[in-house]
Amino acid sequence: MKDRKLLMIPGPIEFEPAVMQAMGAPTTSHIAPDFIEAFGQALERMRHVFLCPDGQPFIVAGSGTLAMDLAGANLVEPGDKALVVNTGYFGDRYGDLLSRYGADVTHVRAEIGDRPTLDAVAAALAADDYKLMTVTHVDTSTGVITDVEGLAKLAREHDVLIVVDGVCSVAGEMLRMADWGVDVALTASQKAIGTPPGLALVVAGPRAMDAFWARKTPVPNYYADWANWLPIMEAYERRRVGYFGTPAVNLIAALNVSLGIILQEGMEARFERHALVSRACKAAIKALGLGQVPVSDDAAATTMTAPRFPEGVTKEDLLPRVKAAGVVLAGGLHPKIKPEYFRIGHMGSVSQGDLLATVGAIETGLARCGYSFERGAGVAASMAVFAA
Ligand code: PMP
Repeated sequence: MKDRKLLMIPGPIEFEPAVMQAMGAPTTSHIAPDFIEAFGQALERMRHVFLCPDGQPFIVAGSGTLAMDLAGANLVEPGDKALVVNTGYFGDRYGDLLSRYGADVTHVRAEIGDRPTLDAVAAALAADDYKLMTVTHVDTSTGVITDVEGLAKLAREHDVLIVVDGVCSVAGEMLRMADWGVDVALTASQKAIGTPPGLALVVAGPRAMDAFWARKTPVPNYYADWANWLPIMEAYERRRVGYFGTPAVNLIAALNVSLGIILQEGMEARFERHALVSRACKAAIKALGLGQVPVSDDAAATTMTAPRFPEGVTKEDLLPRVKAAGVVLAGGLHPKIKPEYFRIGHMGSVSQGDLLATVGAIETGLARCGYSFERGAGVAASMAVFAA
């Protein structure tokens, strides 16, 4: 029997067979007509997935951290003030990254599992003259979601650029870049976008591009400089060839397939499916008597769930037993609470069946750890959500 496990971590996720076929196809030249078409189409499709018709997409080989770096390197000049709306590990990372480019960084934080209130962010914005603010849409270390729509409104009121780290959100959580007034949204291929790891994906809106062109100093990061990549993106979108660095041919072909699948489902249907699967997962976790890191339902993401271990059960006890039952889950990530919780990713092409298998495996694992609970309660709670 094949030792097939279901990968239910917050990225990389399970990928569609058609995407994997594109990954495994013979690699063409980066100037082959089929590849030019795939790259051009992927760029066009990114605008639809990010809901940003007037945005400039960038597809560059690298991980999500490179996508963060692309925004930071191109928008920050030494001495610029930056506000980080910090909901965990990836907010800390964004602060470090912006400091490297000479930004004067201020963090606005909340208790672990919570997000700063809009009032707190408004007060921070009013207190200084910021050029840009970063927001982690879903902090993968806590499973906390921020109110990007409300934060973008504040950014507009204060004439501050807003950069959204959507690595754990884009194509899963509702994100309406243009309607909400988000200036840059970024992600990586391996999460809800549904393509193996290796691509940094950024869409920059008109205000962000204007701020880039208005720089007084050169971009200090050679590989990340938009001036190097923009002609390439523009060329491929016009179905021509440009060269700065060899594109990740198979990954871009696979990305184009995945973006096609996403748009075929439709963004609204996709947001709703993620919300439904998330409700089913969280209902199961509650029914099993486990707490969660996010302090409230409102603060909890729909792309992932961060349950707390029950008393007396550790990661070392539970996760190998869940894996033996067929499902791979992730441990904690936030340094301050790492041993206290685990993480379930449910994004991309995740189905009801995947979620029920996951809850079943968690129940099996918990039972084998000696945790006492009503067997089947989690699966029943999930099924009730799906049936409603
Ligand atoms: N931001 C968030 C919210 C993330 O979840 C991650 C990855 N888990 C990153 C940034 C960094 O992405 P990568 O690991 O692909 O560099």
